[in-house]
Formats: sequence, C-alpha cells, structure tokens
Amino acid sequence: MTKTIPLLDAAEFAQQQFQQTLRNMRLAPPETLPSPLLDQRQRALHDLRISVTDRCNFRCTYCMPKDAFGRDHAFLSHDEVLRFEEIARLAQLFTRLGVRKIRLTGGEPLLRKNIERLIEMLAAIDGIDLTLTTNASILAKKAQSLRNAGLQRITVSLDAIDDATFRRMNDVNFPLARVLEGIDAAARAGLTPIKINTVVKRGVNENAILPLIRAFKGSGHIVRFIEFMDVGATNGWRMDDVVSAAEIVDIINAEFPLEPVDPNYQGEVAERWRFKDGSGEIGVIASVTQAFCRDCTRMRLSTNGQLFTCLFADRGYDFRALLRDGADDDTLIRAIAALWQNRNDNYSEIRTANTPRVKKIEMSYIGG
Ligand code: SAM
Ligand code: SF4
Ligand code: SF4
Repeated sequence: MTKTIPLLDAAEFAQQQFQQTLRNMRLAPPETLPSPLLDQRQRALHDLRISVTDRCNFRCTYCMPKDAFGRDHAFLSHDEVLRFEEIARLAQLFTRLGVRKIRLTGGEPLLRKNIERLIEMLAAIDGIDLTLTTNASILAKKAQSLRNAGLQRITVSLDAIDDATFRRMNDVNFPLARVLEGIDAAARAGLTPIKINTVVKRGVNENAILPLIRAFKGSGHIVRFIEFMDVGATNGWRMDDVVSAAEIVDIINAEFPLEPVDPNYQGEVAERWRFKDGSGEIGVIASVTQAFCRDCTRMRLSTNGQLFTCLFADRGYDFRALLRDGADDDTLIRAIAALWQNRNDNYSEIRTANTPRVKKIEMSYIGG
C-alpha cells in the first residue's frame, strides 16, 4: 500500500522550516548576547529596512514590470500585512541588538494609510536615524505632515529629468512635474539633505545622467546613480544593461570635474564624489560591479513580517507568526540574534551571468 504524505501549504512549510532552523540554532539568552552582534562574516547589525506595503502606483520597468504586476496581481491582504504596533515592537527590539538606522520603503510607502502614525511611533524610539524612500508621487501634499510626525530625511527616486523618459520609466504615464513639486515641498519642510536615487539602465536613461546633474547641481540635493540590479525574478536583468558606476563617473567627470570624498561612515553603500568647483556632491552605488557585501549591515523586514538577511534571498523568516503566536520580547530578540549570527550572505560577490535566474524575492515586497 502506498503511503500518502500530507502536503503543507507554502506558509505552513516556511514556518515549519523556520521553527526547525531556530531549533538548530544556538539561542542565547538576551543578556548574554555579544555587542556588537556579529554575523558569520564579522558584520555588525546596524540598519533595518522596513517595507510597509507591497503596493505601488508606478510600474517601473526594472522593479514592478507591468506584465508581472498586472491588474490581476494578488497583493497582500489587509490581515497579512504587519500592523503598525507589530512593526514598532520589532523595531524597538532591533535597537536592543544594535540597529541605529531605519529606512521605510516598499512598494510605495506613502500609499500606506496613516503612515505618519507609524513614523511617530518609530521616531519615539531613542537613538534612531529615521528615513524613507519614495517615488514622490504624493510627496507634495505629505511632506509637512511627515516632517511633523518626526521623519528626519527623505530619499526620492527619480530616473530622468525629461518628462517623456520619466513617464516611460514609471510606465504609468506619471508626470515629472508632480515629483519635482514633491522634492520642493520636502526641501521646504526641512527633510534635508534630500537624496535623489536614479537607477541607470543602458539604452533607456543613460542620457538622463548629465541633465539630472545640471538640474540639481548647487541645490544641496545629492543625486545618487544606482547600477541596475538583478533583484527579484521579473525584471529581465542582463549584465549588458548595467551601466557601471565607473562609466557613470566618467560621463559626469568629463563635463563637471569630480574628486573623491571619504565615506561618511564605514559601510556606506554610495561612493561619494564632489564637484571640484565646490557646488555639491553626488554618489554612485556600484552594487553590481563593486559588491559591498563585506560591509553589509542590513536586515530587511517585509510587508508581511518576514525577516530577510539579504536583498537577494530566496526566503525569509516568519516573524509575523511568532508575533501573533504570542512570543515574548526575549524570544523575539533571541530569534533575531540567532538569524543574524548565522547570516553568511554575500550574493553580489558571487553573482555570475546565471545567478539572476535563481528564484529570489521581489524588491517591492522585501523593500529596496
Ligand atoms: N517606491 C519607492 C521608490 O521607488 O523610491 C520605494 C521602494 S523602491 C523598491 C526603492 C529603491 O529601489 C528605489 O530607489 C528604486 O529605484 C530602487 N530599485 C528598484 N528596482 C531596482 C533595480 N532593479 N536595480 C536597482 N535599484 C532598484
Ligand atoms: Fe514602485 Fe518604487 Fe518599484 Fe518604482 S521602484 S515600481 S516606484 S516600488
Ligand atoms: Fe548585502 Fe546581500 Fe546586497 Fe551583499 S548582496 S550587499 S549581503 S544585501
């Protein structure tokens, strides 16, 4: 007689694997945990990125391409999404393990209803540097309330400074002018210095590099160019589409001479350059051509409460289930610490032409 094996649904399976993993890990009592808490590659836990929604009103071709995120795409339901109290509780516990910097992201974080209330809760945590990354589509009307809630700075994603290219890249025909109004409103509200993130994709917007520099040079805003990455499994990434950071610096330097600047702190992902004429600085983020895994101190909390130890991970650990099963603070701290201490990720250092085909979690879900 053949024996049938009961099938688990995916969530149940992931949770069982997680429990098994926890059982196999050494769970130290919180008071005996080392400080700083180091992973297998001697990296300390310092930053937490929190994705507050997996939804977005843009369909940037490199992040949420329309054919994968169409009208029938199943976004998370209300119950699946971590509640503000749950996020704030985890964030507080993370600070006890050394986290000093929290970035809210998504999806589009400003689409999360009452995001200001979450910001108030996080801003009340001692010693936290709190920032947010946004597509700025509704920033003009939100900037002041975000600032009033306690947000310190903001990063705006903007891939071109000409309306036609910008509309093509957001793929929902969103006008550039509204984003520029958002940036101005953020500056007036004091969410400064404003960083402007530009993903550069060959054949799509490398012509936008110099116009972006001309537009923001001298404004105090810092434009940072990001190499197109193979996040998720839907953006059709090819190495040929990556414009390297070195190439970007050459393009800018030819017209606006640059000189290197020391990093603000060890592990800063952006390589800093300043204009020799003293009119400000720019950054390049060489996540593909010069991997910075060696200094990667980030953990990521997804919209539905899974913790990820790498942007390119294929699985997370279900902290929502732990929270909703009534885990106490000590258990949560020990679980986070055990995950960090067992962390050995270095995806970008070992990326090959074939690794992009490996199954990975989507960026809009895990948080950029
Ligand atoms: N919706 C918000 C926004 O666009 O700013 C926050 C979430 S978005 C996923 C965070 C950052 O990830 C953005 O600056 C975006 O440009 C970047 N990003 C998304 N997909 C990327 C990719 N394939 N390569 C490099 N950066 C990417
Ligand atoms: Fe939305 Fe940001 Fe992704 Fe663009 S990069 S699709 S704005 S989440
Ligand atoms: Fe960090 Fe993973 Fe990116 Fe390396 S590949 S820098 S470990 S998130």
